[in-house]
Amino acid sequence: SQQLSQPMAQAAGIANMIQAAMASAERIFVLLDEEEQELEQERQVDLEKLKGNLTFEHVRFGYEQGTPVIKDLSLEVTEGQTVAIVGPTGAGKSTIINLLMRFYQLDSGRIIIDGVDLNDLTREQARSMFAMVLQDTWLFNGAIRDNIAYGREGASEKEIMSAAKSAYADDFIRTLPEGYDTVLGEDATNISQGQRQLITIARAILADPKILILDEATSSVDTRTEMNIQKAMNVLMKGRTSFVIAHRLSTIRDADLILVMNEGDIIEKGTHHELLEQKGFYADLYYSQFSSNEAVS
Ligand code: ADP
Repeated sequence: SQQLSQPMAQAAGIANMIQAAMASAERIFVLLDEEEQELEQERQVDLEKLKGNLTFEHVRFGYEQGTPVIKDLSLEVTEGQTVAIVGPTGAGKSTIINLLMRFYQLDSGRIIIDGVDLNDLTREQARSMFAMVLQDTWLFNGAIRDNIAYGREGASEKEIMSAAKSAYADDFIRTLPEGYDTVLGEDATNISQGQRQLITIARAILADPKILILDEATSSVDTRTEMNIQKAMNVLMKGRTSFVIAHRLSTIRDADLILVMNEGDIIEKGTHHELLEQKGFYADLYYSQFSSNEAVS
């Protein structure tokens, strides 16, 4: 079918869509924080008790009334699992992420984390539950040190550097003339795309969230950086529930659960091997796209 012809080639387009949504996210949060703070004081949930079990119960959502995007999504994810979301552009992959991050209200259904309705968390709590990784639109105009430190309020110099080391970023940062003081400008050419991704990983390691949201970039990076990104992601994802909008074959193959989406529905779910055996949409996708090149873009 049409959608099968070049599904992953179009994936770069989702990055733009997410970026548009995410760029304004912080601002939205600030506004909502002020409005809702008092109301939310009353329903504090102990975050320490949450482990990252996630349930979607009959979730329905559309950006515009009468145009459902997510039609009836039910899903259970156990703490520590990696969920890879794949599917053609427009399938609803980033919408799921938007709903998880509570950027939008559900039309109906619930998202539950360890028995707690996501809506019962304060926005502050919801924000601290999750970390977005790999999209460098999350980096701001400022020193590398501050960009990493943003992951955790009051982080010490030692913690910042330790996070950078775990993210395989410390080495390259130290080779920069200004090291951790290097300012990431809007059009900074001083560090590469891949290195910017490593910084987002360092920030997330410092933030130590229960749930990770990764949006794998489709831009090509050099082999060495690519290896570092892969290693850093393994550090980060270990023991954490992760949702990945996945473009890398290795991520998809290693995922505990692959959600194959099309037109707002999960049309198949399972592991790589289970889905290949089904010889359905995923198998077609895999044989037409993934098997020929490792980095799907
Ligand atoms: P994917 O991430 O799989 O490419 P999306 O979740 O971005 O898909 O999009 C799912 C559907 O929702 C598409 O039809 C898209 O056009 C629509 N959509 C996405 N974002 C918005 C938005 N902010 N406003 C209205 N429609 C949107």
